[in-house]
Amino acid sequence: MTLPPKSSLAALAALALLGGALPAGAQTMILRGGTIHTGLAGDQTAEAVLVRDGRIAFVGRAADLPPAPDVPVLDLKGATLFPGFTDGHAHLDGIGWRELTLNLEGSTSVADAMARLTAWAESHPDGPIIGRGWIETRWPESAPELGQGPRFLTAADLDAAAPGRIVLLGRADGHAVTASSAALAAARIDAATVAPSGGEIAKGPDGKPTGFLLDAAMQLVAGLRPQADPAALRAAYQAGFRVEAAYGWTGVHFMSAPWKDIPLLEQMAEAGEAPIRVYSAVTPDGAEALYASGPRSVADGRIITRAVKFYADGALGSRGAALFAPYSDAPETTGLMQTDTAHIEPLLQGALRSGIQVAFHAIGDRGNASVADWYDQAMRAVPKTEWKNPDLRWRIEHAQILRPSDYHWFADLPIIASMQPSHAIGDFHFAPARLGEQRLNGAYAWKSLVDLGVIVVGGSDSPVERGDPLIEFYAAVARRDLEGFQGPDWRPEEAVSRETALKMFTLWPAYASFREAELGTIEVGKRADFTAFDIDLMTVPAADIPHGHAVLTVVDGKVVYRRD
Ligand SMILES: [Zn+2]
Repeated sequence: MTLPPKSSLAALAALALLGGALPAGAQTMILRGGTIHTGLAGDQTAEAVLVRDGRIAFVGRAADLPPAPDVPVLDLKGATLFPGFTDGHAHLDGIGWRELTLNLEGSTSVADAMARLTAWAESHPDGPIIGRGWIETRWPESAPELGQGPRFLTAADLDAAAPGRIVLLGRADGHAVTASSAALAAARIDAATVAPSGGEIAKGPDGKPTGFLLDAAMQLVAGLRPQADPAALRAAYQAGFRVEAAYGWTGVHFMSAPWKDIPLLEQMAEAGEAPIRVYSAVTPDGAEALYASGPRSVADGRIITRAVKFYADGALGSRGAALFAPYSDAPETTGLMQTDTAHIEPLLQGALRSGIQVAFHAIGDRGNASVADWYDQAMRAVPKTEWKNPDLRWRIEHAQILRPSDYHWFADLPIIASMQPSHAIGDFHFAPARLGEQRLNGAYAWKSLVDLGVIVVGGSDSPVERGDPLIEFYAAVARRDLEGFQGPDWRPEEAVSRETALKMFTLWPAYASFREAELGTIEVGKRADFTAFDIDLMTVPAADIPHGHAVLTVVDGKVVYRRD
């Protein structure tokens, strides 16, 4: 991934230019001057949209616009307008913190990442150093003792770059962290420490921890992170909102939303500080309380909390994804399960009885099959008459590696597949090594699922990935990396059409959040959520898609981002 980030400071600068032709806070306007893709079947287009009080009052030919002399006109100036794009899987807190802590995204080598750490340490001389975003898969440095492939960051790297400091640097996938020696000492992790179940403390040939902590073992150093004070937390969410609006997202499905943060998000929305929609699936510590309260919604549905997210396994890159057969490049392991039937069944049954949606992280074929089986067991165990809402819409997050014989679960139960196209074009650089040829048949199988009638929600998993809707859309339709590369094992037949890709980021996330009657297409009566890009995603050559930009983000008829 070599494109420069488009977020951050540029977004802040652009946000300051808001307003222009329209009165501040206007929720009534005419949009015209560019192609309008309505998202309706057959890729229907229009020339003009009239918005009144935040809702779509007219869509059609400009010549047919009803007379509206009082209504301000927003000229698209050739940009292309779409229904509001929604990121079906993102971590709003992490996106915000990425702006406020050491960001190692895009580092090209161990040396590059460590140079960034040294610079950060010099400009932040006090306190622990928290960073994330490194990914070793394309780094040139390798570990001779491993005999192959790029290596993870180690405590020795961190100690050399920031001597004596407590440093925690998270891998981009969020499933591993490297701790410095000072951090290991502060957390009392040494050669004798046993990893918690579902985790691993990597040890070197000398038996000492290397600093690399996988999955549940990350909890051992969690206490070293400075407890965010309320003002810092609010600033992080504000930064997350700014970044998302500037990418063109009108909403995010906030996965693993910390239960303790929900009241803050609700306050921010009521104070007018939530420019885009947030649909949350909360951390498991909030499950019982959410079951008791039922779905929550504030500020006219701007912040909705009605799902809980659980974890079945880890990630493929760090070999935490649970597989039926051993990893092809590590025959001693089949990955790590994070929960079991006895623990999860009561929680799933509680969700059925309280009308709370379930979202379950599952990456490996064993992880996914286990979740499908748990869903099925819970649905059999609780009589339908006791389901609070029979319209379940339960989801699996990622659904990356499936046995083709398990596809039917998604169509039959049914299960919504929440998938991230950018994961595929990043992971395919190492997935063939991890999985071998045969298991790639069920890898990132978007088209196979869509063809079975499964709802496939598109997301970015930002900050695991950049979080740019154009990268996601491109990955979904091209199934090539950002350099245009496609390996022989990439299963190009699983790419989707542009019409399908559009649904993955508009109508289907609306459905997955129970809002398809209000959101997801440009139709009279629906809420006026729009995203405009400076390219037409439906017609430009695929290779051009990631080079476009969002130029306009409208939520409830209000401009929340505009790039001039
Ligand atoms: Zn995620």
